Amino acid sequence: MTEPLPEFPYHPDPIATGAVVPSDTTCVCCGQARGYIYTGPVYSVDDLADRLCPWCIADGTAAGRYEATFTGGAVGDDVPIEVFVAVDSRTPGFPGWQEPQWYFHCGDGAAFLGAVGAAELAARPDGGRPTAYLFRCRVCATHLAYADFT
Ligand SMILES: [Zn+2]
Ligand SMILES: [Zn+2]
Repeated sequence: MTEPLPEFPYHPDPIATGAVVPSDTTCVCCGQARGYIYTGPVYSVDDLADRLCPWCIADGTAAGRYEATFTGGAVGDDVPIEVFVAVDSRTPGFPGWQEPQWYFHCGDGAAFLGAVGAAELAARPDGGRPTAYLFRCRVCATHLAYADFT
């Protein structure tokens, strides 16, 4: 039995998005193999790729110990710093073809729902391997999406 995953308010289903996968890898931060490992981007001095469990991200332990961040975001003008820190330091990021970006809306971080719409976008005649990333504002429920193209 593995314990339930921690809740990520800004990344509600990291299993569905592929940011967290079942794994017997031991987390480098807490030293436990807890059944899941985070596979998304880690921005830190140490090489922590595929070596952190989601619990160490959720409670801020990994961010604090390694000065790691996960979303690669930049502080927006209209977002309180504590919101930005919650997104950047305690939320699993996601791999993108280009630098990922996080959406902020209504003064809060948007919830990342995953890569979507690839089939529709793939029909574009100018080719490439497009993926759209979908977010939903936690305040007004507006959907926000951006596509990146190789
Ligand atoms: Zn851990
Ligand atoms: Zn909004």
